[in-house]
Amino acid sequence: MSDSGMKTVHEDAIAEATTDVEFTPWIDGSRYRPDTDATIEPVDPAVNKRITTIPICDSDVVNVAVQAAWDAYDGTWSSTSPTTRASMLRKWVGVLREHEDELTRLECLDTGKPIEMARGEVRAAFDTIEYYASLCRTIGGDQLASGEKLHAYTRKEPFGVVGQIIPWNFPIWSLAWKLGPALAAGNTSVLKPAQNAPLTAIRAAQLSADIFPNGVINIVPGTGSEAGSALTNHDGVRKVSFTGSRDVGERVMQSAASHIAPVTLELGSKSPFLVFPDADLSKVGKAVADGIFYSSGEICDAFSRAIVHEDIAEEFLDAFLEATTEYACGDPLDENTTMGPLTTADQYESVQKYVSLGEKEGANLVYGGETPGGPLDDGWYVEPTVFTDVDNDMRIAQEEIFGPIQTIQTFDSYEEGINLANDTRFGLSAGIGTEDTSLAHRAAADLESGIVYVNDYGPILPEAPYGGFKQSGIGKDLGQESLEHYLQTKSVYVNLDDPTC
Ligand code: NDP
Repeated sequence: MSDSGMKTVHEDAIAEATTDVEFTPWIDGSRYRPDTDATIEPVDPAVNKRITTIPICDSDVVNVAVQAAWDAYDGTWSSTSPTTRASMLRKWVGVLREHEDELTRLECLDTGKPIEMARGEVRAAFDTIEYYASLCRTIGGDQLASGEKLHAYTRKEPFGVVGQIIPWNFPIWSLAWKLGPALAAGNTSVLKPAQNAPLTAIRAAQLSADIFPNGVINIVPGTGSEAGSALTNHDGVRKVSFTGSRDVGERVMQSAASHIAPVTLELGSKSPFLVFPDADLSKVGKAVADGIFYSSGEICDAFSRAIVHEDIAEEFLDAFLEATTEYACGDPLDENTTMGPLTTADQYESVQKYVSLGEKEGANLVYGGETPGGPLDDGWYVEPTVFTDVDNDMRIAQEEIFGPIQTIQTFDSYEEGINLANDTRFGLSAGIGTEDTSLAHRAAADLESGIVYVNDYGPILPEAPYGGFKQSGIGKDLGQESLEHYLQTKSVYVNLDDPTC
């Protein structure tokens, strides 16, 4: 396709996606138009074109949203039965499903994700909300052994209003990870999407109109420094859940500490994939390539460090590079594209710097490193890039690059492999390539990581808790465990008199 052809296709798609939809904050069950000239302008990163203009929330508007969320909680939501909440969540998913194509296109335009991947994530978001609808009716408490004159039991209760902050790399899926368990548990939410990719969060909230009571879902697009910080500092926010970078996670934790709100943090990583000598390289080469090139490497659990036994280093490189050729930069709106642009201009600059840094640090650039030209020239594209001869103390082996950059290191004993894998401040995800079941279980136990994949990358099931060890985070998204994070336990003691008859 010619340069102008791709631009025209995107301009048409942007027009179709935005003509009948007004993107604004969503507060108290309707569009909220802040009295402000401050706006954000999400950009289609494939062609560097503004998608729309959104008025943003300052701290005063965040206050309005938190108040609306409390009014909803105190009004009807706190007394809504789990069965009713389940049925509302299911009804919402039903409406979202009717808009699957629209949400998929929005996600693709806003993030630059290939449309096929965007569709998969949109469907995964639906699945996640449905999962939490099914968990509503599992919320209960315990009866405690307490003797004849005492009846003691626990109740699980929501916090009230929760503050949630999501990133730009998986917008609608992250929204489902946050709102699904929070609402299922009986909380109301004020959620801030990332300024770089807020569209599906806003649209999904609009599509909840007339399903939930007004004020149960509130979306406050804005900057992290103003809206994000106002939300996490707000003493009306009783629980904070954040997905994003480690350093902002630290700040969020400090803000929440100011009013002793518990936090769930899902942060970055530098995830290793250990390839043992007996690995089936036809499977593992692909698993490692998927793990770093899916979503252009803009994923918190990206397998950005391949750590390979030295006896099979050459064979692994061949298998990995063969799988890498499956990822080629292209137009995200094309169903056959496997790799889109990076989502933001800042991310593009940052990743380019890491490519130069890798060369300066003495790593061997064996694949990629270029920016594709031609029709992709206006987009923020970086080709799949591979470095060998990497030492663990290089910055490219320690810092989260968040782009399609793979580093390959070697090891010669089990202990060395595990030590290299664990020698990072992060611990979100790790991979193991082996055909030996005993070795797989042993390594899974020895890796300091919240998630372990054997011989594959993914899947991510809503049933499985997702979150990191060490500086990759606190607590979990997904699973029953995430629902528990949105509940607090009350112990009730009832003193009983002797029977009177
Ligand atoms: P951030 O951590 O800055 O952004 C994540 C979210 O936090 C966004 O909604 C952002 O708002 C918000 N935010 C920013 N500052 C504050 C604050 N002081 N208080 C409350 N919320 C805030 O990530 P970036 O977008 O800057 O990406 C930088 C790096 O972070 C990436 O290169 C990657 O390494 C890592 N990252 C990891 C992610 C993950 O999934 N674990 C996701 C995204 C990034 P806004 O952007 O609107 O200003």
